Amino acid sequence: MKKIATTYSPPRGHWVGDGFPVRTLLSHERMGARNTSPFLLIDYAGPASFPPATSRRGVGPHPHRGFETVTLVFQGELAHRDSAGNGGVIGAGDVQWMTAGAGIVHEEFHSPAFTEQGGVLEMVQLWINLPARDKSAPAAYQTLLSNRIPTIPLSDQSGELRIIAGEYRGRRGPARTFTPINVWDIQAEPGGRIALDLPEGHTTFVVVLSGTVLLNGSDILRDAGLASLERSGTTIELEANNRARLLILTGEPIDEPVVGQGPFVMNTRQEIQQAISDFREGRFGLLER
Ligand code: MN
Repeated sequence: MKKIATTYSPPRGHWVGDGFPVRTLLSHERMGARNTSPFLLIDYAGPASFPPATSRRGVGPHPHRGFETVTLVFQGELAHRDSAGNGGVIGAGDVQWMTAGAGIVHEEFHSPAFTEQGGVLEMVQLWINLPARDKSAPAAYQTLLSNRIPTIPLSDQSGELRIIAGEYRGRRGPARTFTPINVWDIQAEPGGRIALDLPEGHTTFVVVLSGTVLLNGSDILRDAGLASLERSGTTIELEANNRARLLILTGEPIDEPVVGQGPFVMNTRQEIQQAISDFREGRFGLLER
C-alpha cells in the first residue's frame, strides 16, 4: 500500500485573467519541488457559471519556458492559440497538452461559442516539469480529443477510468510525455470500491474534484481535496461515498533543482534571467494577429 503522506484542503481562490476562477491545489513553491516533482502546479478552475457575453474572457498573450501545461476541460469550451502556429478549441472531455520547452507565447480564452452562450466552466490545468535535457525542446502541442482517450470500465461497476497519459492494465493513453507519467481521470459510482496499482517510486497525487472519497480506508477527500502519497508501495484504495470525479497523477521524480519565476521554470537563477531577457527581446516568437 502507498501510505498517505499529507492531505490538503484547497486554498482560497483567485482569478487568472478574467476567465478562470482557480484554486491552486498544488504548488511546487508552497509544497517544495522535492515533494511534488515532476508536477509543479495544479490549478482547478470552477465549476463556475458565466452569463452570455460579447467579449471573450480569458488570458491574453503570455510566455512559458521549461515545462509543459496540460489543460483538461470537464465543462465549457476553451480556445488556445500560440506562437508556434498551433491552436484550437477543446470542450468537455478533451485535453490540450502543450510543451512550452524552449519557449512559447500563447493565449487562453473561453471559446467564441461559450462566450456567446455562457454556461458552466470547469477545467484543470497541470504544470509538469521537464528534465534539464528537454527544457530546450521545441515548443509543441498535442490536442487529445476525448474520442482518442481510452475509457476503461472498473471492476464491479465501480466506475470508469480515462487514460490521458501513461498506462493502465496494458492500455496506453494518447499523450506523449518526456518522463514516465500517468494522468488518469476517474468517475466513481456511489459505493464503488476501486483498487489501483501504481508505479513504485513515483510521486503520487489524488485530487477529488467532486463527490466524497475515502482514501486507503482512512482519509476523506472532497471538494477539491488533494492527497499526496508516499513514493514506496504500489497500491491505493478508493471508496466513493457518492458519485465522484477524481484525478490520479503519478510521475517519476526529476531529481534536479527547480527555480521558478512566474511563467518560467528552469534549473538555475541565471536561466530564469535568460528567459526574461529572451522574452523581452522577442525570441519566444509572436502570436499572429
Ligand atoms: Mn499559459
